[in-house]
Amino acid sequence: MNTAEIQAFAEGFVTDPGGGFLRAEAATLPELAGLRFFDPPLTGYAAADNRYYLSLVDNEAANIDLAPPAFWLREARTVISFFFPFSERVRRSNRKGGAPSLEWLHARVQGQQLLQTFAESLRDRLRAEGYQTLVPQLDERFWQNVQPRYTDAEGRTRRQFSTNWSERHVAFGAGLGTFGLHGNLITEKGTAGRLVSLVTEAEIAGARPIGRDEVLPPLFANCTMCRVCVKRCPNRAISEPGKKSIPLCFQFMGTVSREHKALGRTLHGCGICQAALPCEAKNPARPGIRADKEA
Ligand code: SF4
Ligand code: SF4
Repeated sequence: MNTAEIQAFAEGFVTDPGGGFLRAEAATLPELAGLRFFDPPLTGYAAADNRYYLSLVDNEAANIDLAPPAFWLREARTVISFFFPFSERVRRSNRKGGAPSLEWLHARVQGQQLLQTFAESLRDRLRAEGYQTLVPQLDERFWQNVQPRYTDAEGRTRRQFSTNWSERHVAFGAGLGTFGLHGNLITEKGTAGRLVSLVTEAEIAGARPIGRDEVLPPLFANCTMCRVCVKRCPNRAISEPGKKSIPLCFQFMGTVSREHKALGRTLHGCGICQAALPCEAKNPARPGIRADKEA
């Protein structure tokens, strides 16, 4: 597949009337049936030997223990990273604040299932062309640790809230955007959306992967530090760059999950700090965009 084919495949997947929408049987309210989760994605490519990824192996400061592409696939050549922006309806629904909207939570839960199905389908297409390919977040070796720090059976430290494949960091390394004060990625289509990535042996025709020694932008280049996200967070989890309190964020999201569970709904998420922001659906640091006029 080349870049145009991958882009068309991804766009078709999330706008397909047969599959890209919330099904009636999964909707918590009848009027939510047919909710479209995503807009067409941005796609970034990185070389498997991208030096940034290697810098994240057992990185205490970033609280990441990234397993580099060659860990997932010995002959890995390319990382493909997608940012799928949430649809306007999903974003608009979460602008009120206080509690996350049902639309947002459905996009977080059923939308995420859609993206995983998409990633598996793209994986299978690339495999059919003869290239080993996998989706790290669906691989049996993938881990995210929310428990207190411990040492695993192989003697490796597993820090709390760490992981061996961070979609945000993978996307940064693939040139899709930079980080914001809220800890999410800010792309040219903003921050409200979801990320997914694949590792493949294929070299994708037409792609300009971020190479081994390419200089990436400053970590917070797209964030104007306007602090709107700080005021939006209902649990005061956001403060300084790189210092978002994951425990406070988890605490609030746990409350959200429990409240919905009590109503018989299996939903989780929050995203209040991704809506009603200058960076919600665009890069506010781009010249010519008045960030203070965009919220
Ligand atoms: S709302 Fe402002 S401070 Fe927060 S991430 Fe977006 S641009 Fe940065
Ligand atoms: S997702 Fe976390 S950081 Fe963002 S508003 Fe909700 S609780 Fe705050």
